Amino acid sequence: MSDVIQLLPDAVANQIAAGEVVQRPASAVKELIENAIDAGADKIRLIVKDGGKALMQVIDNGCGMSVTDARRCFERHATSKIRKAEDLFAIRSMGFRGEALASIAAVAHVELKTRRMEDELGTRVEIEGSEVIRQEPEALPAGTSIAIKNLFYNIPARRNFLKSNAVEMRHIVDEFQRLALAHPRIYFTLHADDNEVFHLPGESLKQRVVHLFGSNYNQRLVPVEEETTIINLKGFVGKPEFAKRTRGEQFFFVNSRFVKDPYLNHAVVKAYEDILPPDTYPLYVLFIEIDPAKIDINVHPTKTEIKYEDERAIYAIIQSAVKRSLGRYNITPTLDFNQETGFSQMISPKPLEQITPPSVTFNPEFNPFDPVKPGGGERHRAAIPQNWETLYQVAQQEAPVQLGLPVEKDDPSAESLHAGKKQPFQLHNRYIVSQIHSGFILIDQQAAHERILFEQFCQQLENRQGASQQSLFPQTVTLSAADFQLIQELLPDIQALGFQIREFGKHTFVVEGIPADLTSGMNERQVLEQLLEEYKNYQATVKLPKREKLARSLARHAAIKPGTALSAGDMADLIDRLFACEMPNVSLSGKPVILTFTLQELAERFERN
Ligand code: ADP
Ligand code: MG
Repeated sequence: MSDVIQLLPDAVANQIAAGEVVQRPASAVKELIENAIDAGADKIRLIVKDGGKALMQVIDNGCGMSVTDARRCFERHATSKIRKAEDLFAIRSMGFRGEALASIAAVAHVELKTRRMEDELGTRVEIEGSEVIRQEPEALPAGTSIAIKNLFYNIPARRNFLKSNAVEMRHIVDEFQRLALAHPRIYFTLHADDNEVFHLPGESLKQRVVHLFGSNYNQRLVPVEEETTIINLKGFVGKPEFAKRTRGEQFFFVNSRFVKDPYLNHAVVKAYEDILPPDTYPLYVLFIEIDPAKIDINVHPTKTEIKYEDERAIYAIIQSAVKRSLGRYNITPTLDFNQETGFSQMISPKPLEQITPPSVTFNPEFNPFDPVKPGGGERHRAAIPQNWETLYQVAQQEAPVQLGLPVEKDDPSAESLHAGKKQPFQLHNRYIVSQIHSGFILIDQQAAHERILFEQFCQQLENRQGASQQSLFPQTVTLSAADFQLIQELLPDIQALGFQIREFGKHTFVVEGIPADLTSGMNERQVLEQLLEEYKNYQATVKLPKREKLARSLARHAAIKPGTALSAGDMADLIDRLFACEMPNVSLSGKPVILTFTLQELAERFERN
């Protein structure tokens, strides 16, 4: 039998490599900008059309390429950055694998224009699917421009796999932000579909952070600086009170390269110890300078992972440096998050004993399954555990006993108590107690309201008709470029929820109305910002359909919080609506909403049996 193994043609090998290097438009953008940085440019412009699917162009004023190099740069393993294996241990440049341009050229139409300062004429190269179509001299400014058009034109499966323009654009903005943060001294601009999204002059790191995230960040940053024999660390961490519910603003750069590193992230978070509000993530932008010989960047083609020789020492240095910075800026003593009373303290035995009083009166008419809402209780009983029909009935047969309990004057339920009606009542403005035939139930008011709103919003999203409440004073909201992209992407759904919102200039929306059910007392801008924050939080942690995440986010935001006093009417309404829900007893985080206490249990606890 003849031999069967053959070497793959370059074009095929390049397409295979492209699978790893170029996953989506954003990865091509990263490679191009890194090349411009390596070329020593101090001005870099990025132009994007249709989320990068139609065009990604990077123009730099770096060193440019010779006629030969302009062609050679598209070959596999063609690099000017390393020459021998030892060089791998002294890498200072962003690139070194010499595969980015070869990979990109295998899966797109590429046009390269480049001129070195010392050359009179520049070179233009056109290449399609690894084949040079044209190469000619041209009068050009010094520097390099690379335009990538029709990415994945020859791999339909990959092209179809790309997400919407807005989603791809968001990935590009993320990548752009990281690179712009890592190199604050470089002037960067980003144009998307003819709009200028970013215009960043060369500046200090602090100015860059403020430019990218907003002017209010000026007060939120604490500088970190530490020089040791192993690493030099510098950058900023956020004050704990500004920690967000999303991880979005956490950046580690090792020798100016953005890396994802859960281990080092842990070191930073540990430094905050218990001064962070629960479930929040502090901002940080930290730069580690380290001898390239002590790390291995070559773990993955995208180079976002690094192996360190001295991992533990680095961890310790970061933790102590951040801790010291936070301490030096006197942050620790001013904060006390322990004031929030924990769940365990709320359910002390005492309030439980006081629970008997409601039996002084009762409301013979009260029945949560009254069809107040169309399709109410009836529809979903199967989902409710423990035979709600029988549980949730007023104990009519028992005669009310007057215990002469003091009734607070301003207690909203006081009136009805005297009117001889049994009403649900609140404990610590946090739980609702309601008597049922066999005992009583305890409802977590926030979890209940979240569940109600969530199901309501899901319906609105499906029917595309959320009720809106017109604002008297429409507000404009200016967002970071990334958030602006995100809202654009979600716009139809946000409108379906009842927001009246439209684009209004650069990175700005005007909000003319918000969903009718929002009672949080926040203004339009705050509502939108919080919604976005919640949404990003879900995006980072759970895989859910987009609309469900949006419904959850708004429900989380809009639901009544512990500490809110409710009138008797509010409580009755809440209970009604809760039992009209599809899953009344499951909170948005999968925990119970309702706890049931039977008379039997109570008697046992009092040892009456
Ligand atoms: P790598 O960056 O790993 O070397 P690339 O495929 O990204 O590999 O680029 C190949 C080579 O092309 C680089 O080593 C560099 O010499 C040259 N090159 C690419 N982009 C530029 C640019 N913007 N300016 C000057 N030279 C460039
Ligand atoms: Mg490169």
